Amino acid sequence: MSLVIAAPKPVLLPVTGTADLFPVRRVYCVGRNYAAHAREMGFDPDRDPPFYFCKPADAVMPVAEGAVLDLPYPSLTANYHYEAELVVAIGTGGANIPVEQALDHVWGYAVGLDMTRRDLQIGMREKGRPWEIGKAFDSSAPIGPLHPAGTVDGMAEAGIWLTVNDTRKQDSNVSHLIWSVPETIADLSRYFRLEPGDLIYTGTPEGVGAVVAGDLIVVGVDGLGTISARVVTR
Ligand code: MN
Repeated sequence: MSLVIAAPKPVLLPVTGTADLFPVRRVYCVGRNYAAHAREMGFDPDRDPPFYFCKPADAVMPVAEGAVLDLPYPSLTANYHYEAELVVAIGTGGANIPVEQALDHVWGYAVGLDMTRRDLQIGMREKGRPWEIGKAFDSSAPIGPLHPAGTVDGMAEAGIWLTVNDTRKQDSNVSHLIWSVPETIADLSRYFRLEPGDLIYTGTPEGVGAVVAGDLIVVGVDGLGTISARVVTR
């Protein structure tokens, strides 16, 4: 037997400080997981159950430490938004994972960006349609190197921030997550059997906004370093 077309290349994330690589399987994202962001999007953050959307694995754009990613301005939008996020990488799969055991399934953490065509997302949302064209487009998931879970402390209380052209736009703390990382893993694993290689973008704090070609985005999570991306014309 032979392949009738070339197999897609796997998406591989560098592991910080090593030559090792982490293969990406699926990308789950949590919606409205910081109260102040839910409010800025016009919702009452009343601790409704978390909800999820997905991006294709090949939307993931690894960014090396110290590098500046060229981030193409996507087609068909006039409101291209950044969202700073803590990303969790699953190393051990499972379904119906108890919250007390959830962190045992985490391989590592990274800084990520959930890039969004906000106009298309809101247009679809208002019609009760799926969000894919607003969320799951090419290059919509930049991510920094993975940090193994055993090498980082205090992820539950880490600062998370984002600047555009050196102006601070987002400035929050992972402790403000409505659904914590263990709670999110436990809940998500009720709907999907999580598998090694899955990524979870855990949600963004308040302060989201638009960028245009030429803008420089820098995102950081305390303990995980920073990643940089320059918005460029396609
Ligand atoms: Mn998001």
